[in-house]
Parts: sequence; C-alpha cells; structure tokens
Amino acid sequence: MTNRIQCVRCHQFLPPSVAPVHVAGCQRYCGWTNYETWNVALWLTNSAPSDRYWRNMAKICRHSANEKDGPDHSAVALLAAQLQSEHEDDAENALLNPPSVFSDLLRTALCEVDWREIAESLLDG
Ligand SMILES: [Zn+2]
Repeated sequence: MTNRIQCVRCHQFLPPSVAPVHVAGCQRYCGWTNYETWNVALWLTNSAPSDRYWRNMAKICRHSANEKDGPDHSAVALLAAQLQSEHEDDAENALLNPPSVFSDLLRTALCEVDWREIAESLLDG
C-alpha cells in the first residue's frame, strides 16, 4: 500500500495519479452511496416500529417478486419503489405544499437517495 492516497469518504486507497479526481467527485458517506441515502436508511431503521414496518415490507416484496418475472418485479425493485413512493408522499404532506425554498431543497435531496441500495440492505438484513 505504498505511494497510495486514501479517500476520506470511501476509504479506498488510490494511486496518486487518480486520487485528486476521485476525491473531488466521491460522494460516499459512512459506507453508503451518499449522505442522503445514509440519512434515509438511518431514520427508517433507527426506531423499532419503522424498522419492523420496512423489514415486513421487504418480506412482502420478496414474496411478490417470486410470483412475477422480469427485473422490474425483482424484490429490490419492488421495495425500492415502495420506499421512494412512501417517502415522497410523506415529504409532500410534511413540507412540499405550498412550494418554497425548503420544499425545493427537500425534493432535491430525495432525488439523491439511492432507493435500491436501501432496498438491498433491508432484503439482506
Ligand atoms: Zn472515495
């Protein structure tokens, strides 16, 4: 591991020739794709009722996925769609109406969430 630079975000060791470009663009946060994804995953597993709800939803999606074909009906795709839909609905109710600078910022943050990564994590757990 000599002559390598470690990225502060993803902890990968990189050759000096590519490290500056990588570090400038790396968005990883605490092992997740980005801060937004980490934050949503943290909130939905941090309380027992929410964790139970989403782990049960993962089971339902796993069961539903077995009855259908195609990548759009995989357990990950079904659970990711459910995660995104419920969070966007909750955001709409909480903050997005009427539109404001805050609703614009929230909408942008939700667009950055990697719903599939969270779905994969729930289905693995
Ligand atoms: Zn990195």
